[in-house]
Amino acid sequence: MDNLTLTRINYMHPAVRQEVLTAYKHINNTLFGKNIRLRFTHTLRTFNEQDTLYAIGRTKPGKKVTNARAGQSAHNYGLAFDIAILIDKNGDGIFETASWNTTSDDDKDGTPDWTEAVNYLKKVGWAWGGEWRSFPDYPHFEKTFGHSWKSLQAKYNVGDVFSEVINGMTYKWVNL
Ligand SMILES: [Zn+2]
Repeated sequence: MDNLTLTRINYMHPAVRQEVLTAYKHINNTLFGKNIRLRFTHTLRTFNEQDTLYAIGRTKPGKKVTNARAGQSAHNYGLAFDIAILIDKNGDGIFETASWNTTSDDDKDGTPDWTEAVNYLKKVGWAWGGEWRSFPDYPHFEKTFGHSWKSLQAKYNVGDVFSEVINGMTYKWVNL
């Protein structure tokens, strides 16, 4: 398994942490062939990190990467993750290539690898950003328990949260 992904799952909202780990293991160990591996490139994105991202293409150079300001993304509440697929092209056990190709079937089992991940994650209740009409976000999945970012933000702003210390840092999670 991908240790970086396991670490990133630890920074997701406690309400989804265990199920995300289970889903991750299932996709990786059962659905994917041994030459490919699922990676979560992002899970929790703090409000500060979101603001930094929002600035790209606006007050900082570059092309816009998000329409969400701090507090406007499920990532800010630990309720979203983004995927990539890592590939070991020469079979040496090192997954040297990251792919966002949604149609390739690198484990050659007859179904595009991205589709395998999407189908399973949707089945276990995750909303897929690839189905967003205005701004499709193919790597993105979120589970918000019926909340919009506005209702999550409202809870956050009135302090309807609980704290958890992870590696010496305090994180505030919205009560769902
Ligand atoms: Zn995302």
